[in-house]
Amino acid sequence: MVSKAVVVGYGVSGQAAHRALSRLGSEVIVIEDSSDPALRGLAKSRNAIAAFRSDELALSLDAKWPDLVVVSPGVRPSHVAHHYFEAPVISELELGWRMTDLKVIAITGTNGKTTVTTLVDSMLDESSIRSIPCGNYGRPLVGLSDDEGWAVVEASSFQLSTISEFAPDVAAIVNVTPDHLDWHGGFENYLGAKLRIFENVGAGSFGIMPSDFSWRPPELPFSVLTFGADSGDFFASEKELISPFGVIVAKSDLKKALPHDILNFLAASACAISAGASLEAIGRACKGFEGLEHRMEVVAEFAGVRFINDSKATTPASVVAGLSGLRRCVLIAGGRNKGLDFEPLLSQCEKLAGIVLIGESTEELNQLFIGALEPSKIVRAKSMKEAVQAGYALSGSSCDVILSPGATSFDWYSGYEQRGLDFKKCVTELVNSLEG
Ligand code: ADP
Repeated sequence: MVSKAVVVGYGVSGQAAHRALSRLGSEVIVIEDSSDPALRGLAKSRNAIAAFRSDELALSLDAKWPDLVVVSPGVRPSHVAHHYFEAPVISELELGWRMTDLKVIAITGTNGKTTVTTLVDSMLDESSIRSIPCGNYGRPLVGLSDDEGWAVVEASSFQLSTISEFAPDVAAIVNVTPDHLDWHGGFENYLGAKLRIFENVGAGSFGIMPSDFSWRPPELPFSVLTFGADSGDFFASEKELISPFGVIVAKSDLKKALPHDILNFLAASACAISAGASLEAIGRACKGFEGLEHRMEVVAEFAGVRFINDSKATTPASVVAGLSGLRRCVLIAGGRNKGLDFEPLLSQCEKLAGIVLIGESTEELNQLFIGALEPSKIVRAKSMKEAVQAGYALSGSSCDVILSPGATSFDWYSGYEQRGLDFKKCVTELVNSLEG
């Protein structure tokens, strides 16, 4: 029983943690560093004992006061709250898991978490098994009041780095490539945070991972299911997606069938089977999946040129995954680099009719592509409108134009959604003007 808790960060998940702790009768103090006092005001109006910024912590609160500290996903490991208190520090994910009666499927990975979470949820739905997508997905696990069925939790490395007893019934890693290295302080730490998803998974539960995953400890208490393009328990033949229990679906029945889509279908199928879904229902969900907004989303087609919005691709690895299934294209890339190496993009030069550089990483990308592409094929744009126009001009009406930035959007936008919406607006304006 927690009688005194500190909640760090008062966004969606911090607010859900506050509500849940208050319901249990805990006293709550909120730490929120926003320069806008509104969130701290909101916490107080909801009966937090106090709400202040972390630079006020030493003067305002005894390190011995709380029994528990709950940190929101965006709170860095270097944040003072991680070190200041004597009480255990846990993530909202851990708190949610301790409080829920639902069975839990947890999904992590560098790319594909949201897609796989969505797929698993619809596979369970098709099997008439109650399920709720949550976690990083938008709705925090800690907020769920349902007591029957499955929570399908999208878990980030940030949340996993502060678990202690979190023991999902099904735990899946979709893939791990470099990302968030500045946050975790290097790839080893990042991989270590992801692997914590398996830390407490026990006998009778399932762990799902790529068949070519580099990590494989000698003995695991849980059942392991692997998936891969051409090897593993769940794999793809030339024409079909296959499980240990039979054919899942024919590739020709899929609306999305790029190489990474296939991997996502296989990973999701392994999760859904582990939770009791039927093969037929899983096949139906695969056939019905049309993709998600801002992820390889075809926005318009004009004079043989498809305009594709992949704004959610914020790592070089996800750009490469997206491009791998495309014909020749013009790539619009750049934004705020989160400390990643752009070099993997060079592997795509052969299929690039040109590259349009946007945002803060324009110069870094320009240096990378000089010598790899003709100078006339490298164009700098100062706005999304310019980028879309330049992309269309470079396409010569004979290939696709894709926004797949490989970087975050925070230099120009509030998030990848806003960047994707701006791209779509600029594409619509261009197409309208060309048609007119
Ligand atoms: P996440 O929630 O992990 O960010 P999403 O499902 O939102 O993942 O997809 C993010 C980006 O990664 C999109 O650009 C998408 O096209 C790409 N992507 C999706 N699945 C994979 C995968 N299995 N491997 C590589 N890239 C992927």
